[in-house]
Amino acid sequence: MNSESTRDTESLLKEANKSILFTTNRPNLVMEKGKGMYLWDTNGKKYLDFIGGWAVTSLGHCPEVILTALVQQSAKLINASPAFYNVPMIEFAKLLTDKSCFDKVFFASTGAEANEGAIKIARKYGAKFLNGAYEIITAIDSFHGRTLATMSATGKQKWESLFEPKVQGFKHVPQNDLIAIQKAVSANTCAIMLEPVQGEGGVFELEKNYIRSLRELCNEKNILLVFDEVQTGIGRTGKLFAYEHYGIEPDIMTLAKGIGGGYPLAALLTKEKFDIFEAGDQGGTYSSQPLGMAVGKAVVNEIIDKNLSKNAEKQGEYIRHQLVSIASKFKLTNIRGKGLLIAFDLPVEKGSKVVSECQKRGLLINSPRPAYIRLMPPLIVTFPEVDEMIAILSDVLTEVLSE
Ligand SMILES: *Cc1c(COP(=O)(O)O)cnc(C)c1O
Repeated sequence: MNSESTRDTESLLKEANKSILFTTNRPNLVMEKGKGMYLWDTNGKKYLDFIGGWAVTSLGHCPEVILTALVQQSAKLINASPAFYNVPMIEFAKLLTDKSCFDKVFFASTGAEANEGAIKIARKYGAKFLNGAYEIITAIDSFHGRTLATMSATGKQKWESLFEPKVQGFKHVPQNDLIAIQKAVSANTCAIMLEPVQGEGGVFELEKNYIRSLRELCNEKNILLVFDEVQTGIGRTGKLFAYEHYGIEPDIMTLAKGIGGGYPLAALLTKEKFDIFEAGDQGGTYSSQPLGMAVGKAVVNEIIDKNLSKNAEKQGEYIRHQLVSIASKFKLTNIRGKGLLIAFDLPVEKGSKVVSECQKRGLLINSPRPAYIRLMPPLIVTFPEVDEMIAILSDVLTEVLSE
């Protein structure tokens, strides 16, 4: 037992079963605190966290800069209402536009909400300039969120018949297939929306030539190229934004997850010429709320100041190198990813077993598909922590794969 914890895990779990609406299967443990790369549950058990709050805790758990930003801003102003500008809102928008190819920012609280905004700009653009074109092309196996429109945008087969009727106007094409997407574009198309690296789909990257061709296609057809960088943005892939890898500029980029370091925060960035909303088209009670703005600014500044994108690139390379070194022993294949968004394939569909055995030994990892393992640690991860992860994973693979 953890001497610091005063909580009785059994009674907490009993209460959770009673009062939490079921949406997902969770293990029988309750998380209580975090610091850096580690989480602790109410039994005092410590976990090395390679899920990172789902690619969210970019600075690790409970970093000083977030604590400070929250304390200082909450003493000054927590909410001014979305009807007024506030100071951190303006400063944070300046920071994001200074550091990216974009001119304008809309702030929200979740990735799905930022993507809804992107879909709305694309449809508005289609209505105004493309004779009412409204169709948006997305990729098979993509993930764009859980609101009705973003579920419709998502190219997940399991969702195809869920919550009918769908929001109309989304077409799904296979990723990296230029001919398929050229064929899919019609007079009804207003945008193409893609993740530069599919996260939930299992870490599959767009090819550089494909992206460049899409940029040309969008220019030629006068339609928008939208990058959903909710998972890839803010240092995750080794650059501040993933689009920087490809030598192109999207028309819209959405950010969430890592941008708040754990605080619910999202942003939509676009160019001056797509600043086309009229008053009331888009908004939200919590859009640009000062507390989130102060946290976001602190998180992004810290990532830039500490050059954590570079660390993501370096540690990502080291992780892939270490995975390669155990690959033949465990028949691991398709070791892939960019920066600290990494996945590989198991020889058998035992992903959830590997995850639960790792958890028992104090390591948190993710299995987005039965044979895939995904790693998305905080950007602050260091070599010894990678070694610790590889050691636990190797033990677990030895056990699980010999069964
Ligand atoms: C997580 C995710 C979303 C949804 O973000 P929420 O904050 O959960 O709404 C959208 N797009 C991508 C690529 C994501 O990884």
